Amino acid sequence: MSTTAETLAAAYFKDGTLPALPSGHFIDGAYRPSANGGTMEAFDPGLGKAFASFAAGDAEDVERAVASAARAAVLWRRSTPIERRRVLAAAARLVRERAETLAFMEVLDSGKTIAEARGDIANVARLFDYYGGLAELHEGASIPLGPDLTSFTVNEPVGVTAHIIPWNYPSSTFARGIASALAAGCSAVAKPAETTPFTALLFAGILSEAGLPAGVLNVVTGLGTDAGAPLVAHPAVRHITFTGSVATGVRVAQSAAPNVASLTLELGGKSPVVCLGDCDLDAAAEGVLWAIFCNAGQVCSAGSRLIVERSIHGALVEKIVTLTKALKVGHGLRGADVGAINSPAQLARIRTHVDAARARGRSIVTGGGIGADAIADTGWFYRPTIIDDLPADDACVCEEIFGPVLSVQVVDDDDAALAAANGTEYGLYAGIYTRDIGRAMRLAREIVAGQVTVNDYWAGGIALPFGGMGKSGYGREKGREGIDAYTATKTITIRG
Ligand code: ADP
Repeated sequence: MSTTAETLAAAYFKDGTLPALPSGHFIDGAYRPSANGGTMEAFDPGLGKAFASFAAGDAEDVERAVASAARAAVLWRRSTPIERRRVLAAAARLVRERAETLAFMEVLDSGKTIAEARGDIANVARLFDYYGGLAELHEGASIPLGPDLTSFTVNEPVGVTAHIIPWNYPSSTFARGIASALAAGCSAVAKPAETTPFTALLFAGILSEAGLPAGVLNVVTGLGTDAGAPLVAHPAVRHITFTGSVATGVRVAQSAAPNVASLTLELGGKSPVVCLGDCDLDAAAEGVLWAIFCNAGQVCSAGSRLIVERSIHGALVEKIVTLTKALKVGHGLRGADVGAINSPAQLARIRTHVDAARARGRSIVTGGGIGADAIADTGWFYRPTIIDDLPADDACVCEEIFGPVLSVQVVDDDDAALAAANGTEYGLYAGIYTRDIGRAMRLAREIVAGQVTVNDYWAGGIALPFGGMGKSGYGREKGREGIDAYTATKTITIRG
C-alpha cells in the first residue's frame, strides 16, 4: 500500500509514530547537529503537544552555513542554466513522489489542514519547475549605440542569499525564494520559523538528491533572535528575502543596512474584499469565506476586511455567517475545514484583539472564542469570527490580526468603498466583487495593493508577481519578476 497522509496520520494518532525525520541543520550537503548541541521541541498545533525535537542553531551554525554558501556560490554561478534547470526539475519530481509525507509533516508543523498542505506541496513542485525553466529564459538586453559600439547586459547572480521563512506557509515561501535564487545562480542559507522547521530540512535533502552541489543550499533551524539575527547581519550575505511581521522586517532592514545588502520584504496586510451592490451574492459569499478563513486566517494576503455596499449588507453578511457556522474546526489530519492556530502566542494575540472588540461593544455575529469541534483536538484553535458594521478607525479594521477574524465595513458608494479600501497602512492584496467591469477597473486601478483580483479572490498562482505597497513591504516574489532580486545587471560595452 502506498503511503498516504491518512496512513501516516493513523500511525501517528495511534502511538506517535512518525516518518523518518532529518536531525540537525543542513550545512555543506549533510544534516549536522548544532555546534553547541542545542535542540528545541516541535509542537503539533492541532494537539498542542510536542512530537519531535530539532536543532536550535546560533551564530556559530550560521557562520558554518554562510561559509559553505560562500564557497559554493563561486561554483554555482558558473553552472549552466541547463544544469540549474535539471536540478530543479529533478527536485520537483521528488517532491511530487513524496508529496504525501511532505504534506503530512507540514500539517504537524503548521496546524493547517491536509487539503491546504497538499496544495502548498503541489505549489513547491510547480515553483521548482517554473524557476528551473526560467533559468534558461532570464535573458539580458542588447542596447543599440551605433556602428562602433556593441553593448549588452548580463544578469549576474548576487552571491550568498539569506531567506527568513515564516510559519504560515513554510513550504511555499521557502520554495519561491530558494527556487528563484538557485535558478539565478545564487547560493542560499534559509532559516525556517522556529515553529515550522521540518519541511525546509526535507526540501534541502531532496535538492541534494536531485544533484544540487554541497553548500549551494543550507538550512539553519532555531530561534529568530539566535539564528535569524546573525544570518541577516552577516557581511557575506548580499540579498535577504524576509517574510514576516512589520516589526521584525524593520529590524531585518536595519541589520542589512551596514552591509548594503539588498532586501525583499513581504510583510503584513489588511486586505479588503470590496463587494458592490450588483455582485453575484453567492459567489461573493463563498469568495469572502475563503479569503479570510483559508489557513485559519494566518495569511499575509487574507481578505480580512469585507467592505460591502449598504444595499446588500444584510443579505451578504447573512450568507457568509451561514457558511461560516457550517465550517468544521479541528486537527488538520482529521478532516477539518479550518485548522489550528500555529502557536499559543498567536492564539493569544487573536483573543486579545477580539476580546477588546467585544469590550468596545462591537457586534460579533459569529465566533469570538477558542476551541475545536472535537474534544480530541486539544490544540490551539480559534472559532471563525465575523465582526459586523465597524467604523473605519476600529482597531480590528486597522491592525493585522493574522487569524480567522473578518471585519465588516458598510459603505454607500464606490468612492466610500475606495476610501475604506485604502484606509490602512498596508497594501498587499485586494479583491473586488461586481458584475460591472467599469466599476471593477476603476477600483482595481485606484486601490493601493500589489495584487488585485476581480470576482475570484484567490485567482492566480505562482506565475503572478506578488508583493506589497506601503507597509506591506517591497520587492516582488513569484512570476518572472521573482528572479530579479537574485541578479544584478552588468552592462558590457565594446568598441570595435
Ligand atoms: P511572528 O512575530 O509572527 O513570530 P516574525 O516576523 O517575528 O513573526 O517571524 C518571521 C521569521 O522571522 C521567523 O523565521 C523568525 O524566526 C524570524 N525572526 C524573528 N526575529 C528575527 C530577527 N531579529 N532577525 C532575523 N529573523 C528573525
